[in-house]
Amino acid sequence: MANHKKLTTASGRPYIENENSKTVGPRGPILLEDYILHEKMAHFNRERIPERVVHAKGSGAFGTFTVTNDISRYTRAKLFSKIGKKTKVFARFSTVGGEKGSADTERDPRGFAVKFYTEDGNWDMVGNNTPVFFVKDPKKFGDFIHTQKRDPFTNMKSPTMMWDYWSLNPESLHQVMILMSDRGTPYGYRHMNGYGSHTFSMINDKGEKVYVKYHFKTDQGIKNFTDEEAAQMKARDMDFSQRDLIEHIEKGDYPKWNVKIQVMTPKQAKEVDFNPFDLTKIWPHGDFPLIDVGVMELNKNADNYFQDVEQSAFAPAHVVDGLGYSPDKMLQGRLLSYPDAHRYRLGANYEQIPVNRCPFAVNNYQRDGSMRIDGNQGRKPNYYPNSFDDIEVDQSYAEPSDELDSHIADWYDRNSKIGDNDHYSQPGKLYRDVMDDEAKTHLVNNIVGAMSGIEGEKKAEITNRQLCHWFRADEELGRRVAEGLNVNLDQVLEAMPQHH
Ligand code: NDP
Repeated sequence: MANHKKLTTASGRPYIENENSKTVGPRGPILLEDYILHEKMAHFNRERIPERVVHAKGSGAFGTFTVTNDISRYTRAKLFSKIGKKTKVFARFSTVGGEKGSADTERDPRGFAVKFYTEDGNWDMVGNNTPVFFVKDPKKFGDFIHTQKRDPFTNMKSPTMMWDYWSLNPESLHQVMILMSDRGTPYGYRHMNGYGSHTFSMINDKGEKVYVKYHFKTDQGIKNFTDEEAAQMKARDMDFSQRDLIEHIEKGDYPKWNVKIQVMTPKQAKEVDFNPFDLTKIWPHGDFPLIDVGVMELNKNADNYFQDVEQSAFAPAHVVDGLGYSPDKMLQGRLLSYPDAHRYRLGANYEQIPVNRCPFAVNNYQRDGSMRIDGNQGRKPNYYPNSFDDIEVDQSYAEPSDELDSHIADWYDRNSKIGDNDHYSQPGKLYRDVMDDEAKTHLVNNIVGAMSGIEGEKKAEITNRQLCHWFRADEELGRRVAEGLNVNLDQVLEAMPQHH
């Protein structure tokens, strides 16, 4: 007995009765004074924290990022300062639309978020397993996500809602095509790529800026489930991706990703014939080749899922010196919405939770708030400037100012170049030039399967509108989908001349 730990209350009081409530006589009512009973029931009632509105079901692990190539001509970020330099990371992967208990193999994009614990603060790379997204303006985000969640009346997922939205929002087409390809059902998290998706920037030690895209290429190779295999796995193991990740790391088979960037100068950004800050577009590899940066390896499971994975919080706003944002509208929206979501879900002091905490210095004048557990900076002054502490602004972190293209504020570009509203060329290229025959057939079958779920009085209208988008991306694709749905595409196109 001597070496055992004593059973105690949360306040540290040892107690002996953990299974029987205190009653009046052996069969009588329970006494209100059984505080331990209240504590157990009340804490249990509060075990769940609000689930993430999106990306609720996820898996995570710790690891290391190692620099393999010198990119100091683009960035002065200290984590990239020399070949061989290692930085601790925490990565979290997730599905997007499902709840915390949903199946891992659903057709859905996958979240791909990495926190780099650098000496200049934490850098969060908060991306997806797709290089593009469904919408290019954050004002649309809430509407779009509603279509991926449950119908307000039936409380069920609704293909009608999804296709209604996608067909009315043609910029979604590129991402919808990737989602409907076999990449929409990846074989767990180890066999998929990650993409920063947004355009970000880098600043070097001369104060020069370039724009960048981040790519994390799986070293395990791309591997996907077919639609049928994904459905079978859903019936067999709802937690396939979680199990696959944990088990491989536990047995020492550490997954790795090769981290690469694409670089575009501000001059090129003005010249390319598409909007390089549009989240529904990629930068062609041929024009903007991938440049090696380093390797990310995940090599340690979290000892406690809730502590580290559930409480982890990533925000694209968290960049470090030498890394920056871009005018990508979706990124600008996420700079606000991610920290805001964490303050709501985890509280104002979410950055003190161990997995989110910067392991290096944090010095500022933010104080108090619920669950402040880091000593709250003790007796130090809580205002700036002051005559008492030694916190100083370090001018070596100054960044170059941004040059803006315009002094006209408006909701959209009234003189927009065609490139900004061309939602068809890149998806068309993906279908024609990248997919082989098998990939094309799976894509068509997956689209037909998914669009077959459209129902109700607007079925024909929604189906036809979406068929026109597939057709505009690629004529053959449009015809094959129409055939699969038993729709006469020529009649549809005739009825909608504006969509030719
Ligand atoms: P490339 O031929 O150089 O690149 C095509 C890329 O497509 C591949 O490298 C691969 O990306 C990716 N890919 C293959 N199958 C699929 C799939 N089912 N779903 C999504 N991506 C897939 O040509 P470009 O760079 O000129 O791009 C052509 C088209 O490829 C684009 O319009 C876009 O739709 C798609 N694409 C382009 C990417 C880019 O960053 N340039 C990234 C992903 C897709 P990876 O090597 O990253 O696996």
